[in-house]
Amino acid sequence: MEDASKQHVEIEELQQVVGKRIAALVGVEAALVTSGCAAALTLGTAACVYAVDKSSLEETSNGNVLKNQVILQKSHRFSFDRAIQNVGVELIEVETVNELNNAINERTGMLFFLNFLDNESKIGREEFARIANRKKIPALIDAAADLPPARNLHILVEMGYDLAAFSGGKGLCGPQSSGLLIGRKELIKAAYLNGPPHEDSVGRIGKVSKEGIVGLLKAIELYLQRDPAADWREWEHRVDLIRLTIDKLHTVRAEPFVPKIANEVPHLAISWDPQVLGLTRTDVVNALRTGEPRIEVRPNESNESKIEIAVWMLQPGEAEIVARRCFEVLGPKHGD
Ligand SMILES: *Cc1c(COP(=O)(O)O)cnc(C)c1O
Repeated sequence: MEDASKQHVEIEELQQVVGKRIAALVGVEAALVTSGCAAALTLGTAACVYAVDKSSLEETSNGNVLKNQVILQKSHRFSFDRAIQNVGVELIEVETVNELNNAINERTGMLFFLNFLDNESKIGREEFARIANRKKIPALIDAAADLPPARNLHILVEMGYDLAAFSGGKGLCGPQSSGLLIGRKELIKAAYLNGPPHEDSVGRIGKVSKEGIVGLLKAIELYLQRDPAADWREWEHRVDLIRLTIDKLHTVRAEPFVPKIANEVPHLAISWDPQVLGLTRTDVVNALRTGEPRIEVRPNESNESKIEIAVWMLQPGEAEIVARRCFEVLGPKHGD
């Protein structure tokens, strides 16, 4: 990234060659570096509903019917669907296969699936893609936080998704303001034309820097060279280290777990009896957050007397610190 910051290059050329290289590395037709997964959602949607050389829905319509609807499952409405709506489309919510089939019409520009909800969806991701393919409507899947497993970099496209979007700054460990859109060649090209560096485009606000383009490529190269089994063992080791410390507290339970989808790596759940300890989740979160050093836990607020620790962003030696702080916050001073 430092090298890139000192070189002056044609951004068009850089995007093209880097896109080609990433596509070859992950095994898909085409790829585009974006300024984040949210930007990839906007560009992907624009690619599906705008004509390649037009910059708004109205221009695209050109006397034809506007493809101004995006269909998704009701449960897949989420905080980032604004990134889809930025393009000017209307979100159409469905709940069943029947409703989905009936909702598809000449205005349908795209079908959208939120990968991390696959296990809880009435329509699973494979069936959703099959329906999209059968109806010849492009389908986009948001898999922002779904690396690892690395195979997601190609299986979602193989499953039938025309486009898949990822964050560069999450599991890929790339530049924080980078993202990746992969999929069918003509759609990736359209996504590119609807974003930076093109000035009159919906995606121009999500500028991608040359440092970011090169940085994400490097991150993907490094990611694909990693030994997933060794990473897994290291994360398990950190979880175990914290667990063994917590196990000394008899009123607190520490249990390793792996989320079934998204952030699919070893974590530790720490729970306690609120009657015995007199501590709420908020007390514990605040104590960890305001202590030295500051520690953040996973933002899962479903249980008032439980926190979840993610270890995969920790630097060597930091699991020991997290163990010590959790012990102090939940330990004897608090009534064990
Ligand atoms: C993080 C996330 C995004 C946004 O990703 P950025 O790379 O920060 O733009 C979108 N969708 C989901 C499901 C996410 O987890």
